Amino acid sequence: MEHYDFLVLGAGSGGIASGNRAAALGARVAVIEMARLGGTCVNLGCVPKKIMWNAAQFEERLTEARAGHLHAGEGACDFGALVTARERYIAGLNARYREKFASTGVTLIEGMGVFVDEHTLAVGTRRFSGEHVLIATGARPVIPDLPGAALGITSDGFFALKSQPRRAAIVGGGYIAVELAGVLRALGSEVTLLARRGRLLASFDDMLGDELCAAMHAQGIQVMLDTRITEAEQAGGDITLVLETGRLGGFDTVIFAIGRSPNVEDLNISATGARLGPQGHVVVDALQNTNVAGLYAVGDVTGAPALTPVAIAAGRALADRLFGSAPARRLDTRFVPTVIFTHPPIGTVGLSEAGARHCHGDGIKVYHTRFTPLVHALSPHPVKTAMKLVTAGPEETVVGCHIIGEGADEMLQGFTVAIRMGATKRDFDETIAIHPTSAEELVTLT
Ligand SMILES: Cc1cc2nc3c(=O)[nH]c(=O)nc-3n(C[C@H](O)[C@H](O)[C@H](O)COP(=O)(O)OP(=O)(O)OC[C@H]3O[C@@H](n4cnc5c(N)ncnc54)[C@H](O)[C@@H]3O)c2cc1C
Repeated sequence: MEHYDFLVLGAGSGGIASGNRAAALGARVAVIEMARLGGTCVNLGCVPKKIMWNAAQFEERLTEARAGHLHAGEGACDFGALVTARERYIAGLNARYREKFASTGVTLIEGMGVFVDEHTLAVGTRRFSGEHVLIATGARPVIPDLPGAALGITSDGFFALKSQPRRAAIVGGGYIAVELAGVLRALGSEVTLLARRGRLLASFDDMLGDELCAAMHAQGIQVMLDTRITEAEQAGGDITLVLETGRLGGFDTVIFAIGRSPNVEDLNISATGARLGPQGHVVVDALQNTNVAGLYAVGDVTGAPALTPVAIAAGRALADRLFGSAPARRLDTRFVPTVIFTHPPIGTVGLSEAGARHCHGDGIKVYHTRFTPLVHALSPHPVKTAMKLVTAGPEETVVGCHIIGEGADEMLQGFTVAIRMGATKRDFDETIAIHPTSAEELVTLT
């Protein structure tokens, strides 16, 4: 049996950040990983997604430029070459994580970890124990329980595609579904998006889902809301979806993006006594403690906002608390900014208008604008930008900021700093605008 100060299960965003920070603080650390280093974000999430989105953006820009004012050459995407280049880049990141572990003295144990008890994990026939043990096993895509579901793929399968779908159905209305739909459409696939609810991105401010739906229609995506699928069938070489209201056929690719569930099932977690929530997430307090002394969890497995920076911040805070001189260090989730890489992108932070009304009643004031950004000024089909600021209280403290439009992805980070610091509408108004940009609209709202 090998013993460590800190034994981490999972080398994704949270596990790597926590293990490296603990090692830097002098702890003896081992990390157990059964797949490629970097976890979902690097291999099957943010990084490959953003590379595909960037390619899609180039494609869209070329199309727009050709239609408007430039004599650009053909922009047809070489999907296979794009995927090869993307995977080469990711292999480089995997290698960098391995080098970093070596340089910080973190022991990497390759294989699947299974709990023996709350301080001991088995990997094959080997046993490892930790004074402190961290569960950072992330989450995986949910496959719907319906006949023929195996004909479809998930986001993991999307990143395994070597050739471009001709006609794709994407099932889901959350951020992964809308991102994959936008990328495939911009790269030239025919895309149908089928969502169970009456609005896309239902957990965000209503404006975002409504504007996105209009932008997707304009992009040429067929969006079907309030649509339930009961079955998938093979029909010749294609897949047909059976809906409650009829049938929809001719798809060569069906992607289910209907949610993610925590990776706890294969861990023999019952051997630890850790409490699980109703959806199977490991229950933790604000300091990432489970109900078992010496056993912690961070990241997607806890049901925290499923974002890489959230997992990283929680992992580092935990290591600082256990091995550094910051015993009260904890994750601060008051204002977590999120970008959804649609076409155009969405940036959102803080309370939605409905959420603010729920918290503050009538003491809120909302500012809104909708305009054609200069980048689309010469386009025959300009895509609108929409922005909303939500303020609360007599000082009009900004409690929410929601943007859909070109540049929203890069705009939001700085505004989040100001909002976290308690900026008021007046602070926004008194800030000199940067002209001509889209961001200036946020400091000139009336
Ligand atoms: C398509 C997609 C797009 C995304 N885009 C973004 C984005 O743009 N921005 C953003 O911030 N977030 C994004 N995310 C979310 C982000 O990837 C996750 O929030 C983040 O990776 C969570 O980190 P984690 O450490 O909790 O888990 P993960 O990164 O999932 O790491 C968990 C690791 O544990 C390993 N593991 C599990 N069980 C075991 C076991 N028994 N033994 C050994 N190893 C095990 C897994 O192999 C994995 O490597 C995206 C996710 C997806 C799916």
